[in-house]
Amino acid sequence: MGSIQIMDEWLSNRIAAGEVVERPASVVKELIENAIDAGSTSIEVFLQEAGLLSIQVIDNGRGMDQEDAKHCFMRHATSKIHDEHDLFRIRTLGFRGEALASIASVAKVELITSTGEVGTRLVLEGGKVLVNEPAAARQGTTMTVSQLFYNTPARLKYMKTIQTELSHIMDLLNRLALSNPQIAFRLVHNDHEQLRTNGRGDIPQVLAAIYGVANAKKMIHFAGETSDYKISGYATLPEVTRASKNYMSFFVNHRWVKHYMMQHAIIEAYHTFLPINRFPIVALYIESDPQLTDVNVHPAKHQIRLSKEKELLALITATLRSALQAASRVPHVEPAKKAPKLASEQVSLWQPQNVYERPIVEEPEEVAWVYNPPQPSPSEKTSDTITHEPFIAPPAKKEVLPQLEIVGQIHGTYIVAQMEDGFYLIDQHAAQERIKYEYYRDKVGEVNASERQSLLLPLTFHYAADEATIVKEHATLLEQVGVFLEPFGQHSFVVREYPTWMPQDEAKENIEGLIEQVLRTKKVDIKKLREEAAIMMSCKGSIKANHSLTQQQMTQLLEDLRQAEHPFTCPHGRPVLIHFSTTDVEKMFKRIM
Ligand code: ADP
Ligand code: MG
Repeated sequence: MGSIQIMDEWLSNRIAAGEVVERPASVVKELIENAIDAGSTSIEVFLQEAGLLSIQVIDNGRGMDQEDAKHCFMRHATSKIHDEHDLFRIRTLGFRGEALASIASVAKVELITSTGEVGTRLVLEGGKVLVNEPAAARQGTTMTVSQLFYNTPARLKYMKTIQTELSHIMDLLNRLALSNPQIAFRLVHNDHEQLRTNGRGDIPQVLAAIYGVANAKKMIHFAGETSDYKISGYATLPEVTRASKNYMSFFVNHRWVKHYMMQHAIIEAYHTFLPINRFPIVALYIESDPQLTDVNVHPAKHQIRLSKEKELLALITATLRSALQAASRVPHVEPAKKAPKLASEQVSLWQPQNVYERPIVEEPEEVAWVYNPPQPSPSEKTSDTITHEPFIAPPAKKEVLPQLEIVGQIHGTYIVAQMEDGFYLIDQHAAQERIKYEYYRDKVGEVNASERQSLLLPLTFHYAADEATIVKEHATLLEQVGVFLEPFGQHSFVVREYPTWMPQDEAKENIEGLIEQVLRTKKVDIKKLREEAAIMMSCKGSIKANHSLTQQQMTQLLEDLRQAEHPFTCPHGRPVLIHFSTTDVEKMFKRIM
């Protein structure tokens, strides 16, 4: 007889367990991933002694019928892959069908599951079914894994302290909560709640649950894309740092990955912003065609191979860097240590609109953007070479800007203007955004019928059925900001007039934008709509960089800016002007010490 034997299932499960079930966190991971694959919207995890005593995962997913319940502990039992074609379009987290078999071989397991019909209760020990009976029907699955490694004492010996095992599980839960904000997670350890998310798809809420509200509020949003990759995420302002790189999390198509080069790309974006050996908190989401990403490298190791990796890394660095620059731009150059803190403090993740209070301003007589505005392009708004310590000029009272004498324009982008004690560099685009924003903030919503004009060509808007319903529901709200929709066919609307406070040549775009905002936010109140509309409209028609202005246009721009309530930042929080005092300049040239 030859010496080759076919291993029995029990032994092969035990060997696989060595790979799949390394520690309590691996069990938690497999159970939660199954719950996610089953479509759960709520997943609760209860641990005793970091899971060494027991791990219970309760989900509200689709559950298993009696037959599936019995089969799910068999090796290579999976409902997720049926043939080789499925291998190339894996949408689920698990697919090898070996996790439950492995877990059951090294622990005691109880399964209670139901698809909504009569449920099933199974009890297994060492992989053998001891109990199989009907159970109450509550749709979903409860897996309880107790006495992990009870029959593999060698493995048990490798376990570190309870604290270490628990921290592995918490890291895992954090990542799962961040990659699945639409699932409500709860983690309870020895009766203490460690994490709870609300499952409303709100990533800032998840960040707040994990890192605390104070830190989450110091995170800025960033987003960008190329033809192959779409990225978005949240990152802390440079003032919030950590001593370890472990607070940077990466998700590719909703799957958490470890990626040294992505870490590097993030750190690159913070270049010169962070103290040495300090790192930010970041959650970065990458979406791409699954063809570009190869996840089947190792089931447990979270590695991923990316095509066009260079392109992706460059996108990450550039997008995050410009978001950081925008959030902490330098409006005042002064070798001051005690200067007030800064633009970044005004950039709140939750309510950027709160930065600007409603002003009491005289209204300009008429709408005429003498600067003859072409469309701004987002990329031009971020040109920036300032690397000084960030400071913001003192908060605005009305007309805190002194009389300025125009010296000239640089690169068709910045105006240089001097006064007695120094000079200013003024970003013409940001300046006009500020002026228009304050104008619109007052004007939007100030409607009465006599203040409308007919459009030369009526505008028509077509929507999908559900969108049209939302638009209809908000018709009165839109009327309050001067948009009067007439139903036209089933899901379409006509607009024949525009409010006089809108410049005629921007009417179409602005009306479109207002409706879009209602569609995007769905539940929008008038205050918010006005605020957002003002920001949108201020941005739309403003002069961009690389556009030379006549002396008269510059004078007008600065005069309008002087009238502004808050001339120092644009509505997005970026500085409008940077101040150089004579003393600062003399210090820079070492004329004085
Ligand atoms: P895999 O996830 O790779 O398919 P597992 O051993 O983890 O393999 O699970 C085996 C099968 O058991 C799954 O394919 C699924 O059909 C079923 N299953 C496991 N956990 C759950 C759950 N929480 N809800 C519904 N079905 C489940
Ligand atoms: Mg699985």
